[in-house]
Amino acid sequence: MEQKLLLVYTGGTIGMVKDKDTGVLMPFDFDHLLAQIPQLESIEAQIDAISVPQPKDSADMEPKDWQFLGKLIYSKFMQYDGFVVLHGTDTMSYTASALSFMFTNLKKPIIFTGSQLPVGDIRTDALENVLTAIQIALLNENGAPSVNEVGVYFDSQLFRGNRSTKISSDRFKAFASPNFPALVTSGVSLKVNEPVLLKPNFNKATKFSEAIVDKVFLLKIHPGITQQMLEQLCETVDFDVLILETYGSGTIFNADWLPILLEKLLKNGKNIINCSQCISGVVKQGIYEGSERLKSLGIISAKGMTTEATVTKAMCLLGQKKDKNEFKMHFEANFSGEMY
Ligand code: ASP
Repeated sequence: MEQKLLLVYTGGTIGMVKDKDTGVLMPFDFDHLLAQIPQLESIEAQIDAISVPQPKDSADMEPKDWQFLGKLIYSKFMQYDGFVVLHGTDTMSYTASALSFMFTNLKKPIIFTGSQLPVGDIRTDALENVLTAIQIALLNENGAPSVNEVGVYFDSQLFRGNRSTKISSDRFKAFASPNFPALVTSGVSLKVNEPVLLKPNFNKATKFSEAIVDKVFLLKIHPGITQQMLEQLCETVDFDVLILETYGSGTIFNADWLPILLEKLLKNGKNIINCSQCISGVVKQGIYEGSERLKSLGIISAKGMTTEATVTKAMCLLGQKKDKNEFKMHFEANFSGEMY
């Protein structure tokens, strides 16, 4: 039976065209985008293409857009063998991570891709990215999809979405997955890294939850942060989860006022997560004095998770209305391959 694939356009450089007067990349033209990829016709599968009603620069994507996209895919889940999402690169890893937490026991591929240059540009990277993302989404063994997870395909590599991060604004190799190997590598042939792929339970249904609460605040720690700054911030910003993006293996400065401030937040029912600024390596609280203090306060470790996965997982768990202890237990457990 002919395979069916849904191509969903959400926006991003890939579908932008330059404003003739200002030179600024802006309007989105979905028909123009499709017309620039005539190879779609030659793919041996039925490819249906749709656009969200208001395509966006991904800098404008919000949690409600993740919910819209997730619901759209879930509403068509039984009709298609796989999904390819065309998305701006800037927040692609956030959207891919969010969807990886919204779907449980995913039994089909949801592959995100985009491009650094618009599809109409003579040197565009869009064609290879889109066409290979589609081929990966159509890979199957005895009728079952080979990839059953949310991925990000860019410049010859498919990464697990919740392990991916944007690392370059000008190289074609715009994404990396520093803490986890590539799932598929594209050369003359597609090399599937079978042992590392998520294995769903084919006897159970795929579930979807759109529950998200976005009361999550991410704070990058840097030299020069003062007690006054942090106190004012904690008094004025309304968050349920504070993510501290700490140094190296999860450590932070040793100021005496810091544990007092964090303890107050914890007593007020907030969850605090320790996530590293380093793109590779793992948070190991207790190696240094600063992180030992965080550990003894009961601060949650994001282990080797990306910042994108940390933010979106926190929002999804808040959406599930976990109480404080449940939140910590669920956050520190692996959900869809974001940590092991
Ligand atoms: N600003 C664009 C976006 O993320 C960049 C891109 O698509 O590459 O939508």
